[in-house]
Amino acid sequence: GNPTIEAVEKKLALLESLGGDTDCHAVLTSSGMSAISTLIQALLPHGKGVLIHPSLYGGTLEYFFSELPKSGHKIFQADFRNETELNNSLEKYGEEIGLVYFETPTNPGLEIIDISNVSRLAKRYEIPTVVDNTFCTSYIQRPLQLGADYVIYSTTKFINGHGTSIGGAIIGKNEEVMRNRVWKTMKLMGTCISPFEAWLINQGIKTLPLRMEKQTENASQLAKHLAKFPDKVRVVHYPGLEHHSGFDLGKKQMSLPGSMLSFELIANLKKSVAFCNRLAYSKAPTLGDTDTLLLHPATSSHINVDPKIREETGITDGLIRLSVGLEDIDDLIEEMNAALKLLI
Ligand code: PLP
Repeated sequence: GNPTIEAVEKKLALLESLGGDTDCHAVLTSSGMSAISTLIQALLPHGKGVLIHPSLYGGTLEYFFSELPKSGHKIFQADFRNETELNNSLEKYGEEIGLVYFETPTNPGLEIIDISNVSRLAKRYEIPTVVDNTFCTSYIQRPLQLGADYVIYSTTKFINGHGTSIGGAIIGKNEEVMRNRVWKTMKLMGTCISPFEAWLINQGIKTLPLRMEKQTENASQLAKHLAKFPDKVRVVHYPGLEHHSGFDLGKKQMSLPGSMLSFELIANLKKSVAFCNRLAYSKAPTLGDTDTLLLHPATSSHINVDPKIREETGITDGLIRLSVGLEDIDDLIEEMNAALKLLI
C-alpha cells in the first residue's frame, strides 16, 4: 500500500463513475500490458478462453495468441460489429468462454463497437465484458456506465499524456472482486506501479479535459484535410467524419471523436515508408502524448502479428496511424502537404 497510489486510484475510479449511479474501484498497475495480464490472471477461470474482436493493440493480440494458450486458454474470435456473428459465437462456445474482450475505437482501424450491445449479449451467458478504453479515457467514454464489467487503461497514453510514465489501470464496479481478486493478483504477480509513476499520472489527470478537447479539435481538422486527397489517400478512418461506419454509434457512446485517426495511402510499402520519413511528426508506437505521433503498424506495432490476421483487420502496407497532439494545426497541415507531394 501507498497513499499516492491509493489517491490516484480513487481519482480514476471517480472519473469513471462520473454521471453514473454506481461506484467504481480502480487498481493501478505497472503498465497497460500488466493491467491486461493481471485482469486475465485474476478473472479468467481455469480451462476457459477469451472471446475477442480481433482488431486489438498488437501487444494485446500477441499476448492472447502466444501467452494464454500456454496455460490452456483458447482464444475465440468474432466480429463484434455483427450482432448475429457475436451471438452465434456466444451460443456455440459460451460454456468455454470466461471473458469477452474488446477495444473501441479499435486499434488501428478506428472501428466503433457498440459497448451496450456487446455487454447485453455477453450478460445473457453470464460472461463478464472487458473494454480497453485507452483511446478515449473516461473523459470521452465510460464503458462501465454502458454495461461493461471492467475497463482497462494504459495510463502511459492519454491519462499521463506527456510520455513521462508507464502505467496501467483496471477499473470495475464490484468492490469485493476488485479488492480480493484483482488487487490481490496484482500484489502476488508483482505488477504494482511505483508511487512516482502514480504521481506523474496525477499530474497528467489535471490537464486531461484540456488536452482531450484540443487534441480532438486538431485531429478533426487533420482528418478533414486528408479526406480532400482521394487520389492519394484511399480512406481516412476517423469517427468524427460522417462517412465513417461508426459515426452515429460514436456520437451515441462517445462525447468527442477523440484524437486518434488512421488513413490508408494509395502506395506500396516503399512509398509509404518514404512518406512517413518525410513527415517531421515523431515516429513512435505509443500514443496520447502532447506531440503528434506517427505509427506505421505493418512495420512496427503489428510486425509480429500473423500476416493473415493483419490483412483481415485492414493493416495494409499503406496504413498510417496518428495520435494527434497539441501543435499548431497549420504546422501539422503544412507538414502533411509536403509529404503528400511525394505521392504523385
Ligand atoms: N492498450 C492499448 C490500446 C494500447 O495502445 C497499448 C499500448 O500501445 C496498451 C494497451 C499497452 O500499454 P502499455 O504500453 O502501457 O503496456
